[in-house]
Amino acid sequence: MNYEKIILKSGRERSLLNRHPWVFSGGVKQMPKAPNGSIVEVRTNADELLGYGFFAPNSQIMCRLFEFTNEPIEINANYWKNKITRAFEYRKQFINNDHTNIYRLIHAEGDFFPGIIIDIYNQAAVCQILVKGVELISQYVFEALNSLGFNHIYLKTKQSTQLLENVTDGNRWVNDAILPMPINAKEYNIQFNIDVEKGQKTGFFIDQRENRRMLGELSMGKTVLNTFSYSGGFSLSALKYGATWVDSVDSSKEAIELANQNVALNGFSNHEGIAADCFEYLKQCQKTYDIIVLDPPAFAKHSRAVANASRGYQSLNKLGIEKVKPGGLIFTFSCSQHIDKDLFRKIVFSAAAECKRNVRIVRQLSQPDDHPINIYHPEGEYLKGLLLHVE
Ligand code: SAH
Repeated sequence: MNYEKIILKSGRERSLLNRHPWVFSGGVKQMPKAPNGSIVEVRTNADELLGYGFFAPNSQIMCRLFEFTNEPIEINANYWKNKITRAFEYRKQFINNDHTNIYRLIHAEGDFFPGIIIDIYNQAAVCQILVKGVELISQYVFEALNSLGFNHIYLKTKQSTQLLENVTDGNRWVNDAILPMPINAKEYNIQFNIDVEKGQKTGFFIDQRENRRMLGELSMGKTVLNTFSYSGGFSLSALKYGATWVDSVDSSKEAIELANQNVALNGFSNHEGIAADCFEYLKQCQKTYDIIVLDPPAFAKHSRAVANASRGYQSLNKLGIEKVKPGGLIFTFSCSQHIDKDLFRKIVFSAAAECKRNVRIVRQLSQPDDHPINIYHPEGEYLKGLLLHVE
């Protein structure tokens, strides 16, 4: 098969030789005459093949490579099946289905498959397609999922990418293989009702699994405040391991409703779900807690928002540190890609300093095994957190 070519400007192949998967428009000498989403060859100025990627003529990232190779290959149904099967085999090493059937199967660049994430909830696979190129080969992805035993595939669109990348297909069950909502699935034997159609993201924030478990293991006999709780992931883990009381706070009434349902589903009652703004709640609440979780949404969605976002994280962490009991713990997170580990730590430092309390970093927290970071694509490291001890 013949593919159209992108030719890079001289010298602009360096990051690709280091297997960074993005071609920026500024580095392109010659564009192919190919429609949005086509699979193209990427070549150096000297016409050497570097690999294959999805072409996006209107995007700053003009091509996302999914294969690095100097030898021509054919990208066919089998190619995609192999890629997805490799990702599945990788997950088998880390995810034990006996207790956990909620996990991420494809983490975009982290699985050498830019432009798509696939999350598994028990028997369902939820696909979020982020670029046109993946939409054009989606049939192969669905066939591969079917061959791995996932016969219920839900396609979920993200509005921002719909506009930017012209991904048109979304929010439907593939081949009408509908599953009634909610799906019942488990994480470390905690049951969750997950609504992939109406829920946030693909239905659940899978990336916090190991941090939720860690919180659980520290919760015996403790009172816990879970801010930005969504459907109660951290709350349930605390309850399961013997927390005496848990408050979940989220501004979304639907999220609190889900959290309450999940608490009941697991047979607990020592919990209150509170629909409120977390900043306001922390400012006004008269209680103090043994453990506080601060897991806000990404405050910095793009690099221009970093300054404002930093102020948001700073005031949130200050409020959290003020409200924790002496000797208490704080799990604090940022999932903003544009705020790196070092900056996040400086922000938390400055919040701690204003509280004039002794604060120690107990552990540095990150994303789990099923959200791997492609070593050549550091942008994939987005979740960072600190476990703090406050005197
Ligand atoms: N910790 C959760 C995921 C949090 S996602 C888990 O483990 O599943 C972020 C959540 O913050 C969303 O549920 C969103 O509804 C909520 N949120 C966003 N802004 C908020 C605010 N100002 N106050 C309270 N909740 C907010």
